[in-house]
Amino acid sequence: MDASKKTRPNMVITVDGPSGSGKSSISKKAAQDLGYNFLDTGAMYRSITWFCLQENLVAEDEIIQKLERDIFQLKITINPDEESVIVNDVDVTKIIREDVITSQVSKFSAFAGVRKYLVRLQRELVSRSNTGIVVEGRDIGSVVLPDAPCKIFITATDAIRAQRRARQTNTDSYEVLVSQRNRDKLDSTRTVSPLVVPKGAIILDNTNLDFDQSVAQFLEIVKAAKDE
Ligand code: C5P
Repeated sequence: MDASKKTRPNMVITVDGPSGSGKSSISKKAAQDLGYNFLDTGAMYRSITWFCLQENLVAEDEIIQKLERDIFQLKITINPDEESVIVNDVDVTKIIREDVITSQVSKFSAFAGVRKYLVRLQRELVSRSNTGIVVEGRDIGSVVLPDAPCKIFITATDAIRAQRRARQTNTDSYEVLVSQRNRDKLDSTRTVSPLVVPKGAIILDNTNLDFDQSVAQFLEIVKAAKDE
């Protein structure tokens, strides 16, 4: 047997990009096609946001205290065919997608202690993956897994991103554009782990691509990284 193949680590693909770029659905479909696991780190920040709103936690030190005392328990699946997020035995898979969470999440994700806690959990989940894994978020290629062999940054113009989101959610595209710009601004200007194009990342701009074309380009980037 070829010893170099036996010891080769599982493939890790990082995906970052602004909100509404389609990165979750594109990377999840690519993970399914590759037979890889998939970790949606945005769902983890959304879960903490849900928990803080439930518990009326506003200040960072109060939140960190709860996290340190293990009062927040998060179970998230990395199987791309089975979306499930459980916080303290409550199934929050759907609730965390609601507008009330979306509009608050950037505030909680800017706290250094929250990020430290979740980054540790994310690295643990990746290390437990028994196959390749696609990890999607805002700081994955830059902070969480900077040594990953394949990094992708998915983006599109903000007008197109807002149009797509508005169509999906049946809302006014101008309203979506305003709230999306606000979230992008908070995510890109925060002091801890702001959204950036990670060093070595390939940019996949899907402004003029449909979903299938975006997935195809994603898979080509992965193939090129594997062949290297
Ligand atoms: O990707 P999604 O829209 O679900 O992410 C929700 C929010 O979680 C983002 O707007 C951002 O504030 C935060 N986030 C983050 N770092 C990540 C993933 C998400 O700060 N790695």
